Amino acid sequence: MENVYIGLGSNLADPNAQVEAALAVLAKLPATRLVARSRRYRSAPWGRADQPEFVNAVAHLHTAMPPHDLLQALLAIERAAGRVRDGTRWGPRVLDLDILVYGDRVLNESGLHVPHPHLHERAFVLAPLAEIAPDLEIPGLGSVVYLLADVDASTCLRMAE
Ligand code: ATP
Ligand code: CA
Ligand code: CA
Repeated sequence: MENVYIGLGSNLADPNAQVEAALAVLAKLPATRLVARSRRYRSAPWGRADQPEFVNAVAHLHTAMPPHDLLQALLAIERAAGRVRDGTRWGPRVLDLDILVYGDRVLNESGLHVPHPHLHERAFVLAPLAEIAPDLEIPGLGSVVYLLADVDASTCLRMAE
């Protein structure tokens, strides 16, 4: 079993419900257990400002699914939620599921980069990750709390419910 962290995001079609539904589906993946989840966070859009704010969360899985199988499963969950890829980078989406960390592995393959290449510059990833795994060492980058200290966390607020 590997310790895997998944970043969840949504800014269309009831984002809170999208994130909660996706967490429930992640918990049912084969050979996988949902160990922990963060609260939901309200986040300013990243990359493109002209879109609704996001709801983000992070999930900690124990899984025996190999990285590529896991990625395919995540893409299938996104499609089932109604995500349509129109080629717009960082545009609005019903659901986005990224593999943030997969154990201590460093993968740089076409279609799969782990740790996620933008993880260290995103408060909407680091704030929820710090809630459930503050001392996690990101391969090649340092601990989550160390990385969080270098981003503007005011763009990402933990939600009450
Ligand atoms: P970003 O990757 O900057 O967060 P994004 O999530 O909007 O942007 P997508 O359009 O959702 O990007 O994904 C494009 C492709 O990224 C996916 O089809 C997938 O093959 C690839 N990819 C590479 N590394 C990862 C990863 N660690 N997790 C998820 N997808 C990844
Ligand atoms: Ca993403
Ligand atoms: Ca993605």
